[in-house]
Amino acid sequence: MHRGTGDLSGGGRAPFPLETNERFLIREHVMNFEKLLERSVKIHGHLCPGQVLGVKMAIWGMQLIGLDAPEAGRMKNMIVYVEMDRCATDAIQSVTGCSLGHRTMKFLDYGKMAATFVNLENGKAVRLIAREETRERARELFPDVEDRYEAQIQTYLIMPSEELFDVMPVRVTIPPQDMPGRPMRRVQCNRCGEYVQDIREVNRDGEILCKACASGTYYEKNV
Ligand SMILES: [Zn+2]
Ligand SMILES: [Zn+2]
Repeated sequence: MHRGTGDLSGGGRAPFPLETNERFLIREHVMNFEKLLERSVKIHGHLCPGQVLGVKMAIWGMQLIGLDAPEAGRMKNMIVYVEMDRCATDAIQSVTGCSLGHRTMKFLDYGKMAATFVNLENGKAVRLIAREETRERARELFPDVEDRYEAQIQTYLIMPSEELFDVMPVRVTIPPQDMPGRPMRRVQCNRCGEYVQDIREVNRDGEILCKACASGTYYEKNV
């Protein structure tokens, strides 16, 4: 659990320094950044290091594949792969408008602070990885701030994205059954009788099985 360290919508105290590093001002159009962070904090429920990191990651990831964060609504011409189900994922969702439900956000349970942004129109894709050193930077920059979260938030706010993330140009092959749009095939599991769509079934020696029947469930039936 982490604590909420600030509220962007109220209070007298500015939650982050408005006088930020000049490079940062030029790179990320600070007004746009603040608006996006504010929205993200509202959706996520609190200001945390993950919100700052996630918003910056999404803005830069989109810029690198030639897209701008939408004012509102969702992106239809991109897909983002997130590698961790933590705070930053909500920020990436709020900036890009990509979501699991629209099939424009894919979750890979790697436990890494990394995400890949794919432009569906030209195939351009980059994977951004949060640098481990930034945690150390927080201690160097704000040695007097006792609250580790507060120090991280301040650090991520002033550090330019080039220093926060490693950029890995990548190629992503997206199978048709993973694309947004109408569901593909729909079949019945031979064992449990439940229906499976989007080619998620498993063919085991001619027997059509759902993944749960083929490789075990995360749940146990409670009767
Ligand atoms: Zn959070
Ligand atoms: Zn089944």
